[in-house]
Amino acid sequence: MPKNRKSKPEEPAYYTQGVRKQDKRILAKTITLIESARLEHQQLARQVVNELLPDTGKAIRLGISGVPGAGKSTFIECLGIHLVNQGYRVAVLAVDPSSQRSGGSVLADKTRMEKLSAAENAFIRPSPSGGTLGGVARKTRETMLVCEAAGYDVMIVETVGVGQSETTVASMVDFFLLLMIAGAGDELQGIKKGVLEVADVIAINKADGDNVEKAQQARKQIENAMQYLMPPSPFWTPRAMTCSSLDTEDPGIQAIWSAVLKHRSITLKNGELQQKRCRQAVDWMWSLVEEGLKERFYQIPNIQRQLPPTIRQVEKGEKSATIAADELLFSLDNRGAV
Ligand code: GDP
Repeated sequence: MPKNRKSKPEEPAYYTQGVRKQDKRILAKTITLIESARLEHQQLARQVVNELLPDTGKAIRLGISGVPGAGKSTFIECLGIHLVNQGYRVAVLAVDPSSQRSGGSVLADKTRMEKLSAAENAFIRPSPSGGTLGGVARKTRETMLVCEAAGYDVMIVETVGVGQSETTVASMVDFFLLLMIAGAGDELQGIKKGVLEVADVIAINKADGDNVEKAQQARKQIENAMQYLMPPSPFWTPRAMTCSSLDTEDPGIQAIWSAVLKHRSITLKNGELQQKRCRQAVDWMWSLVEEGLKERFYQIPNIQRQLPPTIRQVEKGEKSATIAADELLFSLDNRGAV
């Protein structure tokens, strides 16, 4: 290619060069490409992500989850500004499979994180609209890599605490923060044990005004409960903390960020961070293989024909589930047959 020829949007170089130059407009275009359902876009996106892979991996990957109203976007805006002021480049991504059901994502709401989105060194991308959790997660992972290649050094992946989304986010980040608010009575009510187990820090937000004492009590209660859980790592004891997202200089927010840095320095030194990321990449590969297998299975004409009567037979008790599954899988082996 002649040196000064401009690459076109059909070419991977258009995206890779723009991303490496930290061009926000091309970064956004690259993410749109990743999110596109069109086959040719997906093929191009794959190439782009693969070519950018050597430029990825340097960021601190932070996952944040909590119920709606816990203060996630306020917290992220607060932490984000705190970090941008320190010279970090911060990207915020969202995993929100519920956007399909509600028709419009809460996370896509333009008024969220207004100050942070105006910051030169911040990039905010809402969840791709619609799709399964697996699909949204795949796009978020690839978006995360592309943002890293664009030089963002803190990646914040946010999710609403619905279904499996917290564990999905935990499986793509280095550090997982669960945001809670103090309520009446049993603070652990409604939190799934699996979520507590993946949390590196649980923060009680809105510890301000009249709420400080209540937040402190909730913190103690949660810390006690955490003692009985298996820590996510033998080198890290999960902590319960309090914070207020109303003030970017809040000592609680700063203490949470110090915990993230401390966790990073420990896991970097003992090799655990590298191991975790390798494990996550291999797990991701397997989940893509499983997803692909399932997709292909449903596309086989024989299966499409066989499936409705087989389901009816199993429902009526005319065929055992084991035999039905065997027969369907047999069609997978003989997919050439009509
Ligand atoms: P999300 O649904 O988890 O993203 O929650 P939001 O960030 O939208 O916050 C929900 C409400 O709680 C908003 O009215 C915020 O202004 C408020 N809020 C968030 N963080 C704090 C905090 O630290 N202190 C107080 N007092 N209010 C907060």
